[in-house]
Amino acid sequence: MIVMKFGGTSTQDAQAIGNVVRIIRSHVMSKPIVVISAIAQATNMLEKIGKLASEKNDREAREVSTQLFNRHYAIVDQLIRHISRNRTLRNVLETTKEEIDAIIKGITILRELTPRTLDALFSYGELLSSRIVTVALQDQGIDSEWIDTKDFMITDENFSRAMPLMEEIEDRLRSIAQPLIVKGIVPVTQGFIGVTSTGRRTTMGRESSDFSAAIIGVALDADDIQIWTDVDGVLTADPTVVENPKKIKQLSFEEAYELSYFGAKVLHPSTMLPAIEKSIPIHIYNSRKPQSKGTLVSIQLKSHETIVKSVAYKRNVIILNVQPKKRFGQYIFWEHIHNVLTKYNVIGLITVTSEYSYSVVLDAKNFNPAVVHDLSEIGMINLIENMGIVSIIGSNLIPANQIIDKLFKAVGDIGISMITFGASKSNLSFIVDDDDVTEAVQKIHDEFFEEIYNDEVFAELDSH
Ligand code: ASP
Ligand code: MG
Repeated sequence: MIVMKFGGTSTQDAQAIGNVVRIIRSHVMSKPIVVISAIAQATNMLEKIGKLASEKNDREAREVSTQLFNRHYAIVDQLIRHISRNRTLRNVLETTKEEIDAIIKGITILRELTPRTLDALFSYGELLSSRIVTVALQDQGIDSEWIDTKDFMITDENFSRAMPLMEEIEDRLRSIAQPLIVKGIVPVTQGFIGVTSTGRRTTMGRESSDFSAAIIGVALDADDIQIWTDVDGVLTADPTVVENPKKIKQLSFEEAYELSYFGAKVLHPSTMLPAIEKSIPIHIYNSRKPQSKGTLVSIQLKSHETIVKSVAYKRNVIILNVQPKKRFGQYIFWEHIHNVLTKYNVIGLITVTSEYSYSVVLDAKNFNPAVVHDLSEIGMINLIENMGIVSIIGSNLIPANQIIDKLFKAVGDIGISMITFGASKSNLSFIVDDDDVTEAVQKIHDEFFEEIYNDEVFAELDSH
């Protein structure tokens, strides 16, 4: 069996969903289970609804909710002509709208939007889109059944960044989905959302539907995890930054992880973690070009060749540098720093240390000033803001002599504030001023990818 996950742009309107139905039909023989994201922008709109309500602006919150439902009604009416199916879906929309209005009222009264409430609100996006896709499949004569993540996607209680409890999920999913798949029925379920063991809806972090697909794939021992999105696959660089990016045909799990962790948007980094355990291949396909071959993420091919595959970047990061106020043992100093980072759930993107100096690169978006407060008890702090990470990702980057030569030649006089290399064979990252990120990416991309030198690894974008 296989997992087929469709992102928000693949379900954004009736035409897109019609296309999804055709793609699923062409894979029915492979026994798919289908994982659906909320329609494009729905999650953002739900977030906006929650925020507006918490600011006591319930009128505007209801307006955004009406806009969101109008889009869903339009999809249902254009897509589902069969009268009773259309009516069933309209009824679902109606009751959901009432539930959301009640939540808006609750948030407005309490003036408080907790992660738990926001997760409850978020869940409606995926619940609706997955229901619509199920009925659209039935409408086209494909035997399919809607299954609710509430019955199997058990997570811990960390609302907004819940972690799946794999054993529980495996047991439940096997008893719920397996019998359907065996009978040739296509189960359709939701990405992104989970449920605590006491039945509260959770979410696993923004953009985590890819992760949901991998969890489901691993739980059911899938042969393939397919991520259907709106680009041709994983590219050698962001197409909005470089002029002529190529498609990468194959990446190792490690390369794909590093690439998504350091900024490539096509896959959620956590997707690779369950898949790697059972070596289940992940394919990334373009739902607008279903014939195109996409990118395959799988175990490392046994080659010792050094291949630079992609240049990624992450903007708006902060370098936090700590030096101890007095000389305690080095391990005490480090332990203290790690304790503070753990206390505030801060993820260090990159860490560089020397004997008595510790620098960690943090995402400015979730920066918490309390970290600086706590660390200044033991250390002198230097914060360098408005920085960006540029990363080169590929296979067997060590030994790196050639790459480093080319890299320095490419970046020319752009100032590099930090460089990390060696912990992973697949990644070389360095920090530049945020304003220099675009130029650095373009120059490095030109240097490494000016001509396709390896058509086993790369392909031109419009190839089919
Ligand atoms: N709908 C969720 C989001 O927009 C999850 C996803 O699409 O992966 O973050
Ligand atoms: Mg996505």
